[in-house]
Amino acid sequence: MYYNEHTIIYLNGEFVKASEAKTDFFGQTLHYGYGVFEGIRSYRTVSGETSIFKATEHFVRLKNSALALNMPYKYTAEELIAATSTLLAMNQLQDAYIRPLVYAPANMSFNPNNESFIVIEAWQMAPFLGEKLLRVKTSSFQRPNPKAFKIQAKATGHYVNSILASQEAKAAGYDEALLLDMNDHVAEAPGANVFYEKDGKLFTPSTGNILPGITRATVLQICNKLNIPVEEKKIDITELYGADAAFFCGTAAEVIGMHSLDDMPFKKEWNNTVSRLVQKTYKNMVVNNQEVILNEVLGVE
Ligand code: PMP
Repeated sequence: MYYNEHTIIYLNGEFVKASEAKTDFFGQTLHYGYGVFEGIRSYRTVSGETSIFKATEHFVRLKNSALALNMPYKYTAEELIAATSTLLAMNQLQDAYIRPLVYAPANMSFNPNNESFIVIEAWQMAPFLGEKLLRVKTSSFQRPNPKAFKIQAKATGHYVNSILASQEAKAAGYDEALLLDMNDHVAEAPGANVFYEKDGKLFTPSTGNILPGITRATVLQICNKLNIPVEEKKIDITELYGADAAFFCGTAAEVIGMHSLDDMPFKKEWNNTVSRLVQKTYKNMVVNNQEVILNEVLGVE
């Protein structure tokens, strides 16, 4: 259940009951998938406080996504972070998934609007343990062509592609899909980025045909701190078949290892990989106080 009769949401500057909130059935977002959103997590930290992980980065991306789609955007990251903190407290949430959505007014045409609206919802999400390794299948669906969409934006309509790919993989008995781009290079999962490991080095697809994830950026940051070599490049699917390990990363998925791709198991035992070290470090980061603690956890300057 995402909400009950007590749940409060943030709706255009006000805190209202989710069960009493209304939206416009003539809205451009509902009809055409023309909206932008974020997926953010908050964690109960070791000190007992609630910490919204990479809050500024997420609200900056929300703004950039809106501007990429020509949607008016008048909010500051500071006011939305403050609203989110209040929302979490009002709903007594600490380990939560937070979903801001910027949506368009009633408009059945394709013309731009003079205003946008915003809703922020949050629900309980227990910290993900990531112990289970995923069986992944290469999708028959490609990621949307960046010449057809603003692929770097987190736009609602893009997720029809994600839903089709994920449902296809699950119907075939797999845990998740891996999608290629329009040039048949490895792109990403329906809702996460991908890395693979070979001989102690990590590789991830370059930006351009993917959503540049905030978790992906955090993994790059962790590699930097841990002196794990990492390279962003165009990746052929055959490189993954011969890899030692691979993982998906995203706000919801956190860092989650793969067991196999297209029924071919990865070569190394997950616990003996540098990917596992990245996973552990990420977990430490989210439940501690992020950067500051990262340095302490790793014992680096
Ligand atoms: N790719 C796609 C398509 C996604 O939906 C997500 C989740 N937002 C990601 C990658 C990972 O992004 P992030 O780490 O910012 O959650």
